[in-house]
Amino acid sequence: MKFFDVPTRSREQFVNITAQVQQAVQALGIADGVVTLFVPHTTCGLTINENADPHVVSDMLRQLDVMVPLRQAFYEHSEGNSAAHIKASLMGCSLQVLVTCGHVDLGVWQGIYLCEFDGPRARRVWVQ
Ligand code: ZN
Repeated sequence: MKFFDVPTRSREQFVNITAQVQQAVQALGIADGVVTLFVPHTTCGLTINENADPHVVSDMLRQLDVMVPLRQAFYEHSEGNSAAHIKASLMGCSLQVLVTCGHVDLGVWQGIYLCEFDGPRARRVWVQ
């Protein structure tokens, strides 16, 4: 297993981690197979989506805000970050990606994103 750290800079942010995942795959010496990415956190997630137009991820963040408002009268979690927990579960805490000839196999328009919902924080991504 390898890991790498991702410092996030704002409360909500999608960070493209494709290059770090590729480096971890090379460090693991995997030629062909499948790697699992996992974030050991409860208020961030992982997703694969468009890497070209940055408006795709900003639109996703805005739509998630519509679906999961920051404040709700019925939220009871004392930490005050229920929206971040809910969004993290919507994105999921793990991904599987294919590796072919030592390279992470993605579509040309795809990137791997760490989805921060309660930053800024130091996040960690496990790769196995
Ligand atoms: Zn919490």
